[in-house]
Amino acid sequence: MRAALAVFSSGNAPPLQPPRICILGGGFGGLNTAVKLDGLVWPEGTKPQITLVDANERFVFKPLLYELLSGAAGEEEVAPTFEKILRPTSVSFVRGQVESVNDGPATGPEASSGGSVTLKGGALLSYDWLVLALGSEPRDAGVPGVKELTHGFTSYEDVLALRGALVALAGNPAPRAVVVGGGYAGVELAAVLADVLPPGAAVSLLASGSDILPAAPAGQRQIAREALAGKGVRVVTGRGVGGGVRAHPRPRRGASGSAPFPTDAGGATQTDATLRVLGHPHVFALGDVAVCAEGAGSPGSGVSAPPRLPATAQVALQQADYVAWNLWAAATGRPLLPFAYQHLGEMMSLGSRAGAVTLPLPIPPALADAARGAALGPLLRAAGLSVHGDGSGAPDRLSLEGPLAAAVRRAAYAYRQPTPEQQARAAADLAKRALGDAAGLARSFLDQAAKGLKSGAR
Ligand SMILES: Cc1cc2nc3c(=O)[nH]c(=O)nc-3n(C[C@H](O)[C@H](O)[C@H](O)COP(=O)(O)OP(=O)(O)OC[C@H]3O[C@@H](n4cnc5c(N)ncnc54)[C@H](O)[C@@H]3O)c2cc1C
Repeated sequence: MRAALAVFSSGNAPPLQPPRICILGGGFGGLNTAVKLDGLVWPEGTKPQITLVDANERFVFKPLLYELLSGAAGEEEVAPTFEKILRPTSVSFVRGQVESVNDGPATGPEASSGGSVTLKGGALLSYDWLVLALGSEPRDAGVPGVKELTHGFTSYEDVLALRGALVALAGNPAPRAVVVGGGYAGVELAAVLADVLPPGAAVSLLASGSDILPAAPAGQRQIAREALAGKGVRVVTGRGVGGGVRAHPRPRRGASGSAPFPTDAGGATQTDATLRVLGHPHVFALGDVAVCAEGAGSPGSGVSAPPRLPATAQVALQQADYVAWNLWAAATGRPLLPFAYQHLGEMMSLGSRAGAVTLPLPIPPALADAARGAALGPLLRAAGLSVHGDGSGAPDRLSLEGPLAAAVRRAAYAYRQPTPEQQARAAADLAKRALGDAAGLARSFLDQAAKGLKSGAR
């Protein structure tokens, strides 16, 4: 009888429904989660329908916005359309502004395993699993006039607007630019402005602390100071504007404003260590919008919450791997993994053709001493390599600078593009530009040599 029942039930069971996964926000966190989920192997018949929602038509590789401004990188690499990136995948893209989320209660008589998202204009998207990756919005630190009178530098549109403003300055022989904020973004922007503005321009950088780059490794800070000085950027320290400028951007409340997700005092959506939103087992959150709640370890794993992580692409990218894996695990009844962040070092641009990269590898003291020595030190520095300590007794670290650092950074970013096709496009663009640069250098070298020969012949 049992066997007969089993045959009966398997023969008439409703076909497995592929789960509907809705990902809100197509930045580093959301887009990479979508692509990774699409690449995972799902049990037969359960490959999910993945929908990525973003208010804009382009993914923006924000760390390369400086290169977009200077022309050292093009739109293909910095701001490709979602349509183009997702073409080789089965992910659907919906362009729309998320207005609210209605997530069903996880427990109780009305318990449900999903919910719906409302977009501006009223369109409704139903989901079985939701991923929140709406990023953050820039802070104005409550300073009057910041929104109305200054240029922001956080989006593709900001770069277009700034480019327009630079074109409008064309007739001005001595334009002045002031960059507020002595962190990574301020230093990188000041350096690129010094490159793109005419030679008579004055670029100043205001830092509220006693030095620029307070969170950077010592070597990188020193390299940046020297690079800014070399470009003639005036660095003014100890000058906050109005209430000062805070380092952490504000997590975007776009969806959580009318969704029942728990947030911390800063508005970040709280997750457990597996990046599941607290109290919402079908919702994950990552990137700038998310924070792992204090004491919210992975349920049953004995793992406690990691310390608050910086709002960086590096964090969002690593979290995307975990969210994709954990969502797959939750949907297929497997155990979830607690997120473990691995710091991979710091990279920054210092103008169109220079950068600073500090690798996370500790350098043994004997090697560090040799690298600083009179014999090897100048040679390494000329090649763009140096060893720095921060005076705290922690091991010294290796820093790269100049064109070498710029090349390493660009290659790393080409590798960090979301799909193999996009990686290939970025690498090809990079190679084309590098060849152009090499040809330009060779031409100017030959011109110089020819001039030298002519003047010698006279
Ligand atoms: C100029 C600049 C330089 C940076 N450089 C570095 C760097 O060198 N290294 C580093 O690690 N980090 C860097 N960062 C930080 C990094 O870019 C962010 O931490 C990262 O983008 C966060 O990823 P995310 O997925 O959380 O959000 P984002 O990448 O910001 O993506 C959020 C997405 O959500 C969409 N969205 C927002 N609200 C809505 C809504 N209501 N409806 C629909 N869509 C919506 C947005 O359009 C966007 O596409 C930089 C940031 C900036 C601005």
